[in-house]
Amino acid sequence: MAGQERVILHSDLNNFFASVEIALNPALEGKPLIVCGDPKERHGIVLAKNEEAKKYGIKTAETVYSALKKCPNLERVPSHFSEYKRYSRMVKEIYGRYTEKIEECSIDECSLDITESVALFGDGKEIAEKIRKEVREELGVTVSIGVSFNKVFAKLASELKKPDAVSVITKDNYKQIVYPLPVNEMLFVGGATEKTLASYGIKTIGDLAETEEELLVRLLGKRGRQLRVFARGEDNEPVKWQKTKEDLKSIGNSTTLSKDISSREEIKRWIYALSESVAGRQREADVGRANTVHIVVRDENLRDFTWQTKIPPTALCGDIAKTAYALFCQHYPLGAKVRMLGVTVSGFDYHIEQMTIGEVTGKKEYEKRERAENAVAKIREKYGYATLQRGIVLTDEKLNGLDIKGQKEEK
Ligand SMILES: [Mg+2]
Repeated sequence: MAGQERVILHSDLNNFFASVEIALNPALEGKPLIVCGDPKERHGIVLAKNEEAKKYGIKTAETVYSALKKCPNLERVPSHFSEYKRYSRMVKEIYGRYTEKIEECSIDECSLDITESVALFGDGKEIAEKIRKEVREELGVTVSIGVSFNKVFAKLASELKKPDAVSVITKDNYKQIVYPLPVNEMLFVGGATEKTLASYGIKTIGDLAETEEELLVRLLGKRGRQLRVFARGEDNEPVKWQKTKEDLKSIGNSTTLSKDISSREEIKRWIYALSESVAGRQREADVGRANTVHIVVRDENLRDFTWQTKIPPTALCGDIAKTAYALFCQHYPLGAKVRMLGVTVSGFDYHIEQMTIGEVTGKKEYEKRERAENAVAKIREKYGYATLQRGIVLTDEKLNGLDIKGQKEEK
């Protein structure tokens, strides 16, 4: 491969929520601790735990009740998401001393391209060690950092040793370090994939790297080819640092109707179409779930009305549309004409909420619907909007060739 070898860091803050709680209240240091929605609520769910709590076998997502059975004098603190976000920002400021090429993977993980920083600050390991020290000394939380020549291996390296550690995977040692690891340690290898691979004797990352491409493509389609590329250390995905998802406060779409309409059925179809494009953009922007739905309605006299409501966090078109339509029915007089309609979502959680969804069954159901919507999105991506329309919009011919204007609202 031509060009300079890249130097990529993957940083992963250790027990992040619990660590922030301890940094804010040092009296908790050394005690087994969990972060939970409501510490007094025994049906509440463990959102995070520290090393000491781990020693009692306490797991994320189990109930506070069951955690207390394992460790009766467990410290319980409520979550403070704004503090986690603040710490996450401060940690990124430290990364920013060494590079501006920072991709935020989640609230506690970032990918950094420091290829051009090496000449100034020392090699990958040296820079990682500096960051590790500064994060601990200045903020009182710890980070595990992986150093490698691509993103996938840097992420793998960050898992090798924690907390408060740096691990390096190089072109010289990756076969010794990476190849013996079980295949599910690699990004994007989930349960089903793991099973398929295992039935062909592919158990380690090394097995995957050395399997014929044809076989993997036959087993897993295009993804098989990509996984093989990852396993062989040939990933060249760039660190996506220009993305400023933090600045994205809301995502909305609106449309002016070709004639004023008042039929609830028609309005419902438009709301679904708009919601679908909103959910699609939400997915693309990778901002996680939204907890607020807004609608704007312009009447025939060009007066605008807006309403909004909070909902359980979602990135699903179905949820957005249902809420938007309910808002409309609740507030807009029956029979009144509509000139323009808009649907907007806001209150993104940047993926941190996934740990706060308490009801496991609700979560499963959500994931099922998410998979269905993702499948629809993929087909759309390939064949365009008109190919696969949700049942509700199917009957409306006007939606073919629909031109919905997207607008990003930044604050
Ligand atoms: Mg972490």
